[in-house]
Amino acid sequence: MVLNTDKADSWSWALSNNGCFNCKSLSGFIDSKLLNNTAVLAGTMRNNLVPKKVEVFIWRVRKGRIPVLAELDKRGIDLHSVRCPLCDNDIEGINHSLLNCERVWEIWLRVFDWWGVTRPTVVGLNDILEGNVGSFGKDPGKDIWQAALWTSVYLIWKNRNEKVFKNKCWSAPVALSEIQVKGFEWIAKRCKRKVIDWHSWFQNPYSLTV
Ligand SMILES: [Zn+2]
Repeated sequence: MVLNTDKADSWSWALSNNGCFNCKSLSGFIDSKLLNNTAVLAGTMRNNLVPKKVEVFIWRVRKGRIPVLAELDKRGIDLHSVRCPLCDNDIEGINHSLLNCERVWEIWLRVFDWWGVTRPTVVGLNDILEGNVGSFGKDPGKDIWQAALWTSVYLIWKNRNEKVFKNKCWSAPVALSEIQVKGFEWIAKRCKRKVIDWHSWFQNPYSLTV
């Protein structure tokens, strides 16, 4: 500590260079304490083919802010169990809940099949969020594929909640139909570059990306 005899005593905010309080430095500090570093470093990804609520949800997924049981447990909430409420085979973390759970994977396989992705190489959830699944790497319409993936992630979480809180029946075919219908409603309306008709969307969505 360096004492300065020229100045009167005063409060100083340690998290900013000029000693003045600002919310950004405080929220950054809280994030760095609550979340793991890789999650904090995850920048914002945008895809304007889906509603804002979906973009916000994806941002929360990347920040590790989805209330799966393992995350609630970390934050000190007393739970009966942290095992996956769908399969009971593993701890319900974010990756398990949205991707690796066998019940969820049933939905993903149907989504990939619908898009003609026969041998999906999905290493982690980030591949899904970035649209790096299948051979869509250089296609100009990759944003449509990414939007379909984001729609799937969003509706998988919605289905998980309806199963957990309302005991709704878990059905991969029904979930796929929901993804197709909602995806069309959201993406076709927002896509200015290309006319997306229901027949192509339903039968051969890959044709819309090239
Ligand atoms: Zn599971």
